[in-house]
Amino acid sequence: MKKNLKPNAPRQRRRLLFSLIPKVTCLLILITAVLIFFMQRGRKNEAARARTMMSMFQEYLVVNRPKATWWLQSTPKAEEGDLPRIAALLENKRRAVRLLLEEKRNISPLAGKIADIFTNILVSIYNKGSTVSFTMKVPSPANISAELCIIPAEEVAAKAARGEKFISSVFWNHDWGAVMLFALELPPPVLAGVLLHEFGHGYYDKVLHAPSATAPLGSASHSGEEVLMYELTFLVVNHETGGVYGEACDEVLLRHKNVRTPKRLMQSLTLADLAVLDKAINAEGIGAEAAQIVLAQHISLLGLRFLEKRGKGHDEKVAFYQWIVETTTGKPPRE
Ligand SMILES: [Zn+2]
Repeated sequence: MKKNLKPNAPRQRRRLLFSLIPKVTCLLILITAVLIFFMQRGRKNEAARARTMMSMFQEYLVVNRPKATWWLQSTPKAEEGDLPRIAALLENKRRAVRLLLEEKRNISPLAGKIADIFTNILVSIYNKGSTVSFTMKVPSPANISAELCIIPAEEVAAKAARGEKFISSVFWNHDWGAVMLFALELPPPVLAGVLLHEFGHGYYDKVLHAPSATAPLGSASHSGEEVLMYELTFLVVNHETGGVYGEACDEVLLRHKNVRTPKRLMQSLTLADLAVLDKAINAEGIGAEAAQIVLAQHISLLGLRFLEKRGKGHDEKVAFYQWIVETTTGKPPRE
């Protein structure tokens, strides 16, 4: 028996193998179908989470928001005879910005560079696509290290009437070598944060000539620079509030201590969490336009703080920022 069985054994195994093929195929098809089902369900869940997050942000931006408060309505005209008052106002702004850069010079090496480079700032007013300067004594262009261009309410409305809009209410303008800023009333820590942030972009653009300064929105290069600027923003806002903002961020993070990724953190945030952050910077009850700037700061700073506390590096922070851009603009990152 044994003798007869031996030569037949491989053939029997082959037969067994062939008989299993349909079963294995069926099993593979089943596993693939289950995987596809769960992947699609995962995608649907992901989309639903993103929608919930965006509608919460939308609610934060519009519900119970008063009308925006602007400190400059329109570009003054010479015939209004109001030029000395405007010149004095802009001179005060210039002094305040210079003082701010000096005050923050020791909070990080980048803040030190910004204070060193931007010693002569020209504060101008945006007027129909160009700038008007109202200083009593206009410095020669060679002496100006950067411009801070204030955009009055009427200029924003005029653009909107043409169906156009500024890329943001505060941004670094590469072509003009200027920080562009809507003349909105902002809580002082937020204003300090955005100014250092934008002059930081200015430093990367004008001094370092970094490719990231002109890279497309959402690209790894552009997002890498944004992460550095938001890290600086956090230091500035925290410094301005005497550490209260950092404590508020940590309080919110503690509420979501079981969350494992910054994405999930963003998707589980509530209006009550944002209220904790608002309170730390006295941003309760501000207008919708200013709330947009505040919200962008909150979500970027909180997400980066989350990663920082878990010892995550620059690459993870960049990936988080790219996800934020993609989710909030609906556009995938471009390289
Ligand atoms: Zn930026």
